[in-house]
Amino acid sequence: MAKASAKGKKGTSQKAKRGQSDSDSRSAVAPPKPAESVITDEMRADVQRILADTLKKRNQRQTPERFAILDEVYATVGHFDADQLYARLKDKGVRVSRATVYNSLDLLLDCNLVVRHQFGSKQAMYERGYSYRQHDHLICLDCDELFEFCDPRLQAIQEMVGEIYQMNIQSHSLHMYGRCERTDCPNLNS
Ligand SMILES: [Zn+2]
Ligand SMILES: [Zn+2]
Repeated sequence: MAKASAKGKKGTSQKAKRGQSDSDSRSAVAPPKPAESVITDEMRADVQRILADTLKKRNQRQTPERFAILDEVYATVGHFDADQLYARLKDKGVRVSRATVYNSLDLLLDCNLVVRHQFGSKQAMYERGYSYRQHDHLICLDCDELFEFCDPRLQAIQEMVGEIYQMNIQSHSLHMYGRCERTDCPNLNS
């Protein structure tokens, strides 16, 4: 259907159109942008309230362990797996079992406080879900480094697909895998 192009303004001058495609090609080579990492006190209060509300609704106890896990998740920049989170909590002297960490991550996933990614056949990775800025991932097959990138054209594709299939798209997942071509790759032990 022609719906997808309905957003393009009719009568746009050739010059403006060229300007548009110029900026498109620039965004194609833009360097990867990391997701925002600063968590304010206000955001911390928000995520605690969301967890408290979810537990109340489910008639589950608001244990200090669950909130300690939430705090650690929100103190973590970037991606982590369940075992890394468990190790970090242990280092900080928080007494939780591995099972509690796994259960709590499932709980945080249910209330969108974490996002889970499956990169290849590796262990599931998590990152903070609150005020999650849409981004996609590039993973190096040689050194496992994980990059985040953000390209508004992917958002435009998502909206177009939603219009065509009449769906309110909630999320998407795009992972790219590459071979490291950096001779000075900091992650390779030569
Ligand atoms: Zn990410
Ligand atoms: Zn690499």
